[in-house]
Amino acid sequence: MQSLLGQRCLLCGARSRHGLCAACGDSLPYLPPHRCEACALPIAGARLCGACLAQPPAFDRTFAVLRYAFPADALVHALKYQAHLHVAPILAELLLTRLDACPPPDLILPMPLHPEKLRERGFNHAQEIARWIAGRRGVPLQPGLCRRIRDTPPQAGLPWKARTRNVRGAFACEGDLAGRHIAIVDDVMTTGATLNELAKILRRQGAARVDGWIVVRTLPQAGDRHTPVSGSR
Ligand SMILES: [Zn+2]
Ligand SMILES: [Zn+2]
Repeated sequence: MQSLLGQRCLLCGARSRHGLCAACGDSLPYLPPHRCEACALPIAGARLCGACLAQPPAFDRTFAVLRYAFPADALVHALKYQAHLHVAPILAELLLTRLDACPPPDLILPMPLHPEKLRERGFNHAQEIARWIAGRRGVPLQPGLCRRIRDTPPQAGLPWKARTRNVRGAFACEGDLAGRHIAIVDDVMTTGATLNELAKILRRQGAARVDGWIVVRTLPQAGDRHTPVSGSR
């Protein structure tokens, strides 16, 4: 456990038993308390944002904890591209602080990675986070439930509207999920197009409820048109 979590704060090097010291933990870019229940974008007052009201996404709720800003972006980067696997439990613990509001799902599904990417990277970062959460919540982890069958170009390089098209047909799932409540775990959600596509596939297999458990939510920049998550229609 010691070697897993380290004895020093990952961000400032101060002594810390939990990977992040209290001061660094407090100064993370947390999402504001009022968020759309479906897509987790900040809104004032209402339960759902206008975009989710107009075109409800295929998932029910998104639980997210941080905004995509420094140092949340650096933590995600360290896990994903520098293979600092000890960052996964830290991100998982941050996400767990938001999950009390979610009834326990029947199973947890890490966002699937295409086999080729998995070979390149050697691990699925979403699965590293999901494994920790599954253990802490006592919910079964089922990474093999769905497969990524199309290696889509990275969403990051695409304009918002193209992202929905980019992920269409990306996943396959054969299991019977009738009546199941499934939580999808991922590190980052940007437009929600990938989460929406996977949720659609799970629903097609009978899933009754699909939630996104997401560490970092990207907020639209000025100039991005906030298109609905399911805005392909
Ligand atoms: Zn610190
Ligand atoms: Zn919304």
